[in-house]
Amino acid sequence: SAYNMPDWKKDALGKTLPTFGQRSKLSIKEQRESLPIYKLKKELIQAVHDNQVLVVIGETGSGKTTQLTQYLAEAGHTTKGKIGCTQPRRLAATSVAKRVAEEFGCRLGEEVGYAIRFEDCTGPDTVIKYMTDGMLLREILIDENLSHYSVIMLDEAHERTIHTDVLFGLLKKLLKRRPELRLIVTSATLDADKFSEYFFSCNIFTIPGRTFPVEILYSKQPERDYLDAALTTVLQIHLTEPEGDILLFLTGQEEIDSACQSLYDRMKDLGKNVPELIILPVYSVLPSEIQSRILDPAPPGTRKVVVATNIAEASLTIDGIYFVVDPGFAKQNVYNPKQGLESLVITPISQASANQRAGRAGRTGPGKCYRLYTESAYRNEMPPTSVPEIQRTNLGTTTLTMKAMGIDDPLSFGFMDPPQPQALISAMEQLYSLGALDEEGVLTKLGRRMAEFPLEPHLSKMLLASVDLGCSDEVLTVIAMIQTGNVFYRPREKQAQADQKRAKFFQPEGDHLTLLAVYEAWKANNFSGSWCFENFIQSRSLRRAQDVRKQLLSIMDRYKLDVVSAGRRNLTKIRKAVTAGFFFHGARRDPQEGGYRTLVENQPVYIHPGSALFQRQPDWVIYHDLVMTSKEYMREATVIDPKWLVELAPRFFKVADPTRMSKRKRQERIEPLYDRYHEPNSWRLSKRRA
Ligand code: ADP
Ligand code: MG
Repeated sequence: SAYNMPDWKKDALGKTLPTFGQRSKLSIKEQRESLPIYKLKKELIQAVHDNQVLVVIGETGSGKTTQLTQYLAEAGHTTKGKIGCTQPRRLAATSVAKRVAEEFGCRLGEEVGYAIRFEDCTGPDTVIKYMTDGMLLREILIDENLSHYSVIMLDEAHERTIHTDVLFGLLKKLLKRRPELRLIVTSATLDADKFSEYFFSCNIFTIPGRTFPVEILYSKQPERDYLDAALTTVLQIHLTEPEGDILLFLTGQEEIDSACQSLYDRMKDLGKNVPELIILPVYSVLPSEIQSRILDPAPPGTRKVVVATNIAEASLTIDGIYFVVDPGFAKQNVYNPKQGLESLVITPISQASANQRAGRAGRTGPGKCYRLYTESAYRNEMPPTSVPEIQRTNLGTTTLTMKAMGIDDPLSFGFMDPPQPQALISAMEQLYSLGALDEEGVLTKLGRRMAEFPLEPHLSKMLLASVDLGCSDEVLTVIAMIQTGNVFYRPREKQAQADQKRAKFFQPEGDHLTLLAVYEAWKANNFSGSWCFENFIQSRSLRRAQDVRKQLLSIMDRYKLDVVSAGRRNLTKIRKAVTAGFFFHGARRDPQEGGYRTLVENQPVYIHPGSALFQRQPDWVIYHDLVMTSKEYMREATVIDPKWLVELAPRFFKVADPTRMSKRKRQERIEPLYDRYHEPNSWRLSKRRA
């Protein structure tokens, strides 16, 4: 049926929500026993006993993630080793672990724990360990046999993250070496046959679902502004539909924050005569106090709207959702191998995703899903399933990890869906330029070191270069700050004041040093929270930076890498370290255009208005990454001397031959040589022969 968005009617408002009846409050034991998986407990334990690999499918919320691990622990598997369960997302790993610890009756980090990047909440007693798939990959790097584990569960495998895809290949081989190891691959219904086929045609265990019908409503015409349409729909539901919570899918943190703010404002405009709407944002970097509110039921007479990223599609079960609003978009990591640039792009979702989203409305009772796109767009424009991440992302980190695991030829690794050969070659070229691989494509000593850090290759190179340059103390801080997301707080009603405070931290050399200055000032003020508040700094981000820094420091210690300070006067070293890692991201001012051009692809880019360099507009900069809003903006830009490019990235840049240069170029004495087709590296040759 078609959904025609009615006009916004302020006077049709009821004061209380019509109710479906009392929400029942079950004990934890009753909740566990009411899950669809519970009736199959015995069969499941038997199946895992009888099968080395098992694909388990079942609707979201049937109990796979929280129950299966506990059943296997009860059945005695933990006497032989830990039960490890991977999640594609950090937030899913932590929130599920928290829930399971509660069900298990222990404190988090005791029998039940979790590990995500930069955060290890496990202990000597931990037997059920939830973790991101990236963390398990790092564990294999240290112990290729995963000898501490008796069971591995690759959860949410249908998400097909690059880490899960690599784990597929590694575990397939490990199963042969360790016949007693058990592997469980869980998935939403799709792809089960494909997974089974990949894993030696293993058995598929199906948990029958318990779902209610969901009525699907489409927009009649394409929406011009999906955000506005989404907010209007949410309020429409709130004011006209009976009790039941709403789940709105948006694409990312900024969009979610601004949507929540608009919803809040619009609710305020409606005055006191409308029932309360509890607005809850969900994305991966939210602090846990807010996270747990998402799962709490809304008090009687109120309604909750959860505004979430894709995370709520399958990895996070939120009970009590009756209405789903689906604009049909998600942010995807897209890599352009030609430009060597990776960016998050808002992309239409697949039909499989759309159906998964709709299904979220039918868990507690019959629900409704409002699709803010036309039925014809759904049928004719959306792809049936999404492209696995491995086929659309930068393979730099993965290739480095695989090389460090001794997988010499990633092209013949045996992926479920192999990446494009060109993408692998371009990853190897990047690693070669960074000095992580030699001409033969073999891992160098530097490359091995780089792989030891849970950082992408540019950052680990920057860190290791800083050890040689004598500024690792500062660079540790810069890297930790870059990893933590928004540092500056800029509330809408106090923008001018916030900008003024921010400008006080600005360093003439750029944003990397500005981030350092913020951290140093915070440290000088005893890591004080009120100092952050006064200076419009997100204290949460700084505390996280402090954690990340500590983690990186412990890895530095483990490998006996020097932590040396450049001292207050020698900031050049720090900028050189940035250059050593990020020389791919060089840009020079383009006086004609009033912006910059990237050195690698000559693409027009701009200094962000929030940057320390916005006023100064220096000739040469290195940026951390690009964000596309109204223009392609450089995020975290730092002034460099172009000579450093040749000095620090000799495999990538060289001073050009003056006889072959234009006069202008000759004056510059530098020219980027991105000659991927000229250098006769053996891996390229062998590829061509193949
Ligand atoms: P599946 O993995 O099959 O999608 P889960 O094991 O994640 O299912 O969820 C099973 C049930 O456990 C959910 O329906 C929900 O009621 C409950 N649950 C899961 N996580 C939490 C949590 N963090 N807090 C409260 N309840 C939760
Ligand atoms: Mg699950």
